[in-house]
Amino acid sequence: MLIVPEALIAGLVTPEDAFAAVEATFAAMARNDAYNFPVIREALGEGRQYGFKSGLDRAGNIMGVKAGGYFPGNAARGMINHQSSVFLFDPETGLPTAMVGGNLLTALRTAAASAISIDRLARKGAKVLGIVGAGHQAGFQLRAAARIRKFDKVVAWNYHPDMLPKLGEIAAELGLPFEAVSLEQLGAAADVIITITSSPAASLLDKHVRPGTHLACMGTDTIGKQEVEPALLARARVFTDEVAQSVSIGEAQHAIAGGLIKAENITPIGAVIAGLAKGRQSDTEITLFDGTGVGLQDLAVASAAVERAVAQGVAIDVKV
Ligand code: NAD
Repeated sequence: MLIVPEALIAGLVTPEDAFAAVEATFAAMARNDAYNFPVIREALGEGRQYGFKSGLDRAGNIMGVKAGGYFPGNAARGMINHQSSVFLFDPETGLPTAMVGGNLLTALRTAAASAISIDRLARKGAKVLGIVGAGHQAGFQLRAAARIRKFDKVVAWNYHPDMLPKLGEIAAELGLPFEAVSLEQLGAAADVIITITSSPAASLLDKHVRPGTHLACMGTDTIGKQEVEPALLARARVFTDEVAQSVSIGEAQHAIAGGLIKAENITPIGAVIAGLAKGRQSDTEITLFDGTGVGLQDLAVASAAVERAVAQGVAIDVKV
């Protein structure tokens, strides 16, 4: 069995690698070549969440599980709140093949998913990027979005405004003007909005969002989290990584529970990538990607990390 520890990941997997791996995975899901197993996610108390995301990609010959979760007390200890590890297995024999550090990979694959949605669904002329959130993932989201579209400016809002300057530093690094704004100003200015918070209630309201906006709602990945008003999903065309997760643990859970949208009206982004469904159809429609984070994304980037580690001779080989 190979071990690829967290410390090696940054030197092995680029954001471009993550984009390509996740895009191929979403398309494989749409072609039924790959599927995710049901998610297990448990509340441990004091806001801690722990669980397992797993799946099988027959086309890529990848099977495995990501074990991990969200531990809000970590930041005070100088660690990031998200902690995870990926385990890969041989789909034929079930033998373990690799254990891979999952923290940076999670950020890369999550940012890749929203970047894929922006690439496929945002208006061609999109110029202003809005970000709701300023935690660990937000910087990765900003970098990934800036890689695929030429934005002129970033506007941002966060529930904890003191966290925004750090996001501003990343925008400055990318050469993008950055402005901390109200939610009203954000919605009025932004062509693309990424939401990436652990909020338990909607921040961004339907009235804040202009026609033609693309939203990538990335923070809601468990029951009870919520970033946007359900009416916004009713007004938008809704896309997702996986419909089953979108309606149960994703942003759509609230609009579904309220009877505002139906599962059959939610389009997997993989179907757009595979040419099986239409993406944006006009400059005025609102598109909303409900990025819930699927196990197959984790397995795809972990598998890429193992391949690179082997090629570079840095994977740690442990006899089992
Ligand atoms: P973080 O702890 O570093 O940051 C949390 C963010 O949420 C900050 O912007 C904070 O201000 C905001 N926030 C906290 N409490 C809030 C409240 N009551 N109301 C509004 N905003 C609040 O977390 P992170 O690692 O940046 O992750 C952000 C979210 O993204 C989490 O919910 C995490 O579970 C989720 N996530 C999703 C995926 C996916 O694939 N969809 C992947 C990784 C993380």
